[in-house]
Amino acid sequence: MVTVLLIVLGAVLSIALRAAIRQLWMPKFCSWCTRASGHEVTGHTDDQCQGPRLAQSQRAEIEATHQRDLQRSEARLTEHTEKRKAERARTAARLRIEHIGNVTTRGREIHITGWRFSTHPFGTEVTGGQAYSYVGAPEQTSGWNVDELHAIAHGGACRCDVARLARIVR
Ligand SMILES: [Zn+2]
Ligand SMILES: [Zn+2]
Repeated sequence: MVTVLLIVLGAVLSIALRAAIRQLWMPKFCSWCTRASGHEVTGHTDDQCQGPRLAQSQRAEIEATHQRDLQRSEARLTEHTEKRKAERARTAARLRIEHIGNVTTRGREIHITGWRFSTHPFGTEVTGGQAYSYVGAPEQTSGWNVDELHAIAHGGACRCDVARLARIVR
């Protein structure tokens, strides 16, 4: 009886001992890196692994970049929409041209002279005109911009100093 007990105890002890030795001699092994890389990674254990932390900060960085891109494109879209709205408002408020004048350059200024616009927006009843002379941005008062007035005065294909200066000044 005692002999059987000793044999069983011996067997249990030797199994435990072998397991302990195997643990001791087995190289450290990381299941996270092994999973992530697709081949066995040794040298550190799961508990020592920096992989999950790095992956997390990488994800956070990608997300932050994505958010920044999103905000930028939203801002661009808003700006674009605002510009289109302003452009529509301008063309809707363009005054009827009653007399075509001159568009000339003096130095680095574009002069809009001799034009007469009705005081009412395009399409409404014309009640007398206004002589028009302007240096700068005519769209602020007439709704017509320099390019449009120049095209009306000289034709769309004109490449005179006005066209050149309008490109630079803008
Ligand atoms: Zn690892
Ligand atoms: Zn011209």
